[in-house]
Amino acid sequence: MAQERVAIVTGGNRGIGLEVCRQLARNDMVVILTSRNKEAGQKAAHDLQKEELPVVSHQLDVVHPASIEQLVMFVKKEYGRCDILINNAGILPDTTEGSAGGEFPSVFKAKSETITRAMTTNVYGSLHMCQAFVPMMKKNGYGRIVNISSGMGQLSDMNGGYPAYRLSKTALNALTRILAEELSGENILVNTMCPGWVKTRMGGENATRSVEEGADTAVFLSTLPDNGPSGKFFRDRKEILW
Ligand code: NAP
Repeated sequence: MAQERVAIVTGGNRGIGLEVCRQLARNDMVVILTSRNKEAGQKAAHDLQKEELPVVSHQLDVVHPASIEQLVMFVKKEYGRCDILINNAGILPDTTEGSAGGEFPSVFKAKSETITRAMTTNVYGSLHMCQAFVPMMKKNGYGRIVNISSGMGQLSDMNGGYPAYRLSKTALNALTRILAEELSGENILVNTMCPGWVKTRMGGENATRSVEEGADTAVFLSTLPDNGPSGKFFRDRKEILW
C-alpha cells in the first residue's frame, strides 16, 4: 500500500488554516496541525480527531528558528517525510499598529517596525519553513508547497493602504517564484494563492466567504498531479495575474 502523504499546516489552530487541516485530512493525508500556542493547537486537533480525522498537533512559531528546528526533529522522528507544506500563518499588523483608533492605515503613517513585523511572519516565516522542509521533499522526489498570499499583494491590482501587509504578500509572491524556479525538475511544485475575503478573525464578520471556500484552492494546489503548475498565483483554482 502506498504510504500516506504527510502535510504540515502553519497557523492551523483557527481560521483558514484549521479548515485546510480538516480538508487535507479528509483527503486521506496525515496532517500536522501546527500552532504558536500549544494548547490552542491541541484543542483544534482534538476537535478534528473527534471527526475521526488523522490530525496531530505540534507547537510552531514561524518567527523562531528554534521552534522550526524542533518541528523538523519531530517530523523526521515520527514520519521521516514531509510531502505537503501549507504556509498559512499570517498577520495583518497595519490596523493594530500602523495607525491609531481605526484610522485608515496610510503608507504615510507606516512605521518601519510594523512593516518588519509583517515581513518577519508572512515572508521570512514561510522562507524558513521551506528551507527546513524542502530537503525532506527532495529526498522523496515529491513536494507540494502552498503559500497563502492575498489579492492585496497583487501588483496588477495594487491599491493604497495597509502597506505592511501588502508589501509582505507581494514579497511572498516573489518568494514563490524564486522557489519554484530553483526547484524545477524536482517534482516539488510551489504555488501561491488568494483565498478571497474570508470570515475569520483577520477577515472579520463582514467577509463574503466561508472558511470552506477560503481553504478550497489550498487543497487543490496540495494535490496537484506531478505535471501540475508551479510558480503561479491562484484564486478559485484558476491562475490569476501577479
Ligand atoms: P486568522 O484567523 O487571523 O489566523 C491567522 C493564523 O496565523 C492563526 O492561527 C495565528 O495564530 C497564526 N499565526 C500568526 N503569527 C504566527 C506565527 N508567528 N507563528 C505561527 N502561527 C502564526 O487569519 P486567516 O484569515 O485564517 O488567515 C490565514 C491566511 O490567509 C493568512 O496568511 C492571511 O494573510 C491570508 N488571507 C486571509 C484573508 C481573509 O479574508 N481572511 C484574505 C486573504 C489572505 P494565533 O492563533 O496564535 O494568533
